[in-house]
Amino acid sequence: MTAGAVIIGAGQAGGRAALMLAEGGYNGPVTLIGAETLPPYERPPLSKDMLNDPATPPTWLADPAQYQQAGIRLMLGRQATAIDRRAARIRLDDGTHLPYAHLVLATGSRPRRLPFTLDRLHDLRTIDDVTALSARAARARSVLIVGGGVIGLEVAATLATKGLAVTVVEIGSRLLGRNFPAPVAALIAARHAAAGVAIRTATRVRAMREDTDGIHATLSDGAILSADIAVAGIGVVPDSGLAQAAGLAVDDGIVVDDRMCSSDPAIFAIGDVAAQPGPAGRAMRCETWQNANVTAAHAVAAILGTAPPQAEAPWFWTDQYDLNVQLAGQTGPEADGARIVEQRALTGGRLFLVLDGNRLIGAAAVNAGREMSICRRLVTTGAVLPDALITAAAFDSRAARACLNP
Ligand code: NDP
Repeated sequence: MTAGAVIIGAGQAGGRAALMLAEGGYNGPVTLIGAETLPPYERPPLSKDMLNDPATPPTWLADPAQYQQAGIRLMLGRQATAIDRRAARIRLDDGTHLPYAHLVLATGSRPRRLPFTLDRLHDLRTIDDVTALSARAARARSVLIVGGGVIGLEVAATLATKGLAVTVVEIGSRLLGRNFPAPVAALIAARHAAAGVAIRTATRVRAMREDTDGIHATLSDGAILSADIAVAGIGVVPDSGLAQAAGLAVDDGIVVDDRMCSSDPAIFAIGDVAAQPGPAGRAMRCETWQNANVTAAHAVAAILGTAPPQAEAPWFWTDQYDLNVQLAGQTGPEADGARIVEQRALTGGRLFLVLDGNRLIGAAAVNAGREMSICRRLVTTGAVLPDALITAAAFDSRAARACLNP
């Protein structure tokens, strides 16, 4: 078989890379290998629309017929078990081999697990996970959610809206401590409280057991919480085992350069699993939908020898209840010490500008998508804002746009 591009992992990043390689005229066969039996699908609806109504069909990354039309060979329900770098081929779970000229590792990440194996303790990463959880939730009256990050809170919002009694237990001193500014996290916490969700921060689950009555968790403050089901959303770990076994440089994720090339020039890593050059020389992973697309585009450009995509500020969003929250640039602990200015958005929402002096280094928008699209461009260009724009009570879109084209 002719060696071509082989992509391991059929999630957002892997699916995009396959489509872009084929559409970009890659000179050879393109093969996309996925452990799940479904073609690539979008994950954002899993914790929202699909959990709310399990009859919701998957949102495909591309029409499944498009892969065949583009000449992409889809190998679904299959796993790569080893990379033989010397022979430039991978081994598959049936013992056969597939040669590659370019190998793209898009193996993603998997949920971090609590140290308890219980039938009614769920996590949420795949369509199978949401099918299992929604079947249980349909018969449940209460749910304990461990982890007050994006997954935990999106699940909390969906299930509270369906009428379940929801408790969230978060180990950190506040919700969303990993990537949200404190005032935005407080606003989201207040919305959950208004929906009746009980939130316990600075608390860990010490023990968990189940019996016919449900799940019983012993918390670090000695309290015992019982619920019909539990969901863990306590972060993810990168799937870098194949790369590590093949001797590639791995540091939390697979270490890549800014072209997404690993320590082997024929092997690229993209999406959640890629540890990219970060500030102060530290490799950093980024677990967002946008990062999956952007890293796929960088790797494809490097493979095809075309121009890399234009830089854009990191961006992600979450939808909880009637809140659409979007964040761009530095909004997590790396922005600690930065000045945060809150403004009204003319569309009715709120904006939070993260400033280093007058330079906009990050922004968060609550129900202010239109203003956010300007802020994303301002953060990308490192715009310096005039005092009047910063001190105004409401975000001035026209003045902000002027900062893009001074
Ligand atoms: P996050 O890392 O966002 O949040 C996990 C939270 O759980 C953190 O606040 C963490 O605290 C806390 N935690 C860790 N261990 C424990 C514990 N033992 N008990 C209680 N709390 C604990 O991960 P998620 O699981 O929420 O999300 C998984 C992945 O999916 C992430 O990569 C996320 O970015 C992605 N995702 C993105 C979405 C979006 O963009 N809208 C939506 C949903 C998921 P600490 O930080 O102190 O460890």
